[in-house]
Amino acid sequence: MKAASRSFWMVVLIWIVTVPTGIAYLLTFYPLPDVNWTWLAFTVALGFLSIYYPMVYNGKSIVLFVWFTLPVFLLYGLTAEVLVTQVIVIAAVLAKAHTGDVMYRLFYNSLAYFLLSFVSAAAYALTGAHIGTLAFGALVLGIFAYQITYSVLYDAVFVLYSRLTGRMRKNTFKETLFHYVRLIIIVPLSMSLYYMLALYGFIGYFLVGIPFFFITLVLRLNTQQEDLNDYIESAGKIGRQLTAKTSRKGITEEFMTETAALFGAYYVYLYEYFEGWLEPRQFYVQGEKSLPPEVRLGSGQGIAGRTLTEGTGIIFSRREQWKDLAMTAVPANFESLLCVPLTRNHKPAGAVVIGSEKRDAFSKYHLNVLDLLSSYYIVAMEKAMYIEEAEKENNRCALTGLFNYRFLEGQLTKDMALLMHGNYTAVSVVMLDIDHFKKVNDTYGHESGNQVLKQLGRILQENCPENGTIARYGGEEFVYILPGFEKSEAVGFAEMLRKKIGETGMVIGGSLTGNEENQVIAITSSFGVSSAPEDTDEAMALLRNADRALYIGAKQAGRNRVGSYVK
Ligand code: GH3
Ligand code: MG
Ligand code: MG
Repeated sequence: MKAASRSFWMVVLIWIVTVPTGIAYLLTFYPLPDVNWTWLAFTVALGFLSIYYPMVYNGKSIVLFVWFTLPVFLLYGLTAEVLVTQVIVIAAVLAKAHTGDVMYRLFYNSLAYFLLSFVSAAAYALTGAHIGTLAFGALVLGIFAYQITYSVLYDAVFVLYSRLTGRMRKNTFKETLFHYVRLIIIVPLSMSLYYMLALYGFIGYFLVGIPFFFITLVLRLNTQQEDLNDYIESAGKIGRQLTAKTSRKGITEEFMTETAALFGAYYVYLYEYFEGWLEPRQFYVQGEKSLPPEVRLGSGQGIAGRTLTEGTGIIFSRREQWKDLAMTAVPANFESLLCVPLTRNHKPAGAVVIGSEKRDAFSKYHLNVLDLLSSYYIVAMEKAMYIEEAEKENNRCALTGLFNYRFLEGQLTKDMALLMHGNYTAVSVVMLDIDHFKKVNDTYGHESGNQVLKQLGRILQENCPENGTIARYGGEEFVYILPGFEKSEAVGFAEMLRKKIGETGMVIGGSLTGNEENQVIAITSSFGVSSAPEDTDEAMALLRNADRALYIGAKQAGRNRVGSYVK
């Protein structure tokens, strides 16, 4: 902020010593000749027109007005041209007074265009061409010198502007090329206008101006078409990237960053529909994840709610159009918004809102592209959800909901790798087996046995430490992986569990088992403990050791106790 204000005062200072002084100097030593004020007014009017309908190339506006200010210079000299250009520049800045730092741009542009006028005029004079000349050769040379100087200086001045304001606009090679190639249009155009005005008067504006603005219009339509193709291509690419991903979190993140990048938008807001409410899920501001506000939008509420209830995308071109609708705090520099509803199987799923600091930033085709991108997003999320669920099922035991042996194996390998990397000082394994479980089955039936397993599963899950894993190892055998647990801690943990299981009554019976009456039975269990690196460095050996400790140290020693592995 400080640097920006320092550069602002520097610009103002240079402006004061250059522009008013320069104009005063021009008015004194090169006073305005007898000018046709209507023509000057018409030139200013053309200036307005070119500001409001700029050429659009690569999504950027190009305001071309030198071709009709140059004839003013050729007819009346530098003083008249400077005055006309300054009026146009001031008008251009004020027309966009709602964005950015107006004062800064006012002084900077006024200064920049003053220098452009002055230096280009000097280049013209250096070729030896005079003001008001009709000599073709002299004119061609003079105008070329003027335009090339103008283009080079223009480039420099605006690179400097991006540097000063910290908004680096990177021009592509194509854009830089276009900048110079357009001289092919501008030089003959300004020359024709000048000849027309000098020889036939006012009609020149129509003969040259109308075709120019017509071409501008065609070019705008054409670049829109080209832009659209580029957008669709990019959206397709993003879509393929999204659908290749299998985690919902990753998909959402990619969707947010890619969407922001594709639209050059500063803001991307994602809302999710949940039981009648729209909730902000993720907000991206200037490419960074930002904390979404804690609000819930009811049906039709807010901008996102509106697009969802209407079921169609909405474009807002300026702040006034939506500011009364907004339910969440919107940054002060927001202007254009692009909103699309998200639907899944014709049901509401959420909304996406993209914001830009520019007015009129989005048109119908942006909406279509965002719509396309959003459908990719929904499809990718749906697919990822199925995959995530299927994976969950593959990893879980259907009866107890605990992890199964397959998952346990993988997890143990991971935890042992972390141990080797030094993330943990120890990894312990606790294995447990219900005592005389066959008797439970024989006495109360297999179904009751299942009920016991379910309840035990819940107890084991509830007592699982934060980064630990509990899995059903086999029939009525379970295994804990306890990263960070030294052997003695693991033995203590097993002891605590052993008591808890012994003290907890297991409810069996009910209509499911054929025994209408509920019954509470007590069970006990035996434990085996083994630790890495104390007993072994190898994952599978850790399991084997715990198994041995369970059978030798606990079962053979009389059951309902904790056996610790001894080498
Ligand atoms: P011990 O104290 O020696 O462990 O005696 P035990 O009877 O528990 O012996 P063991 O652990 O070898 O017996 C396992 C029994 O657990 C065999 C089987 O009937 C029962 N079982 C295994 N899986 C299930 C299951 O999913 N449901 C039910 N109800 N019973 C199971
Ligand atoms: Mg058993
Ligand atoms: Mg067993």
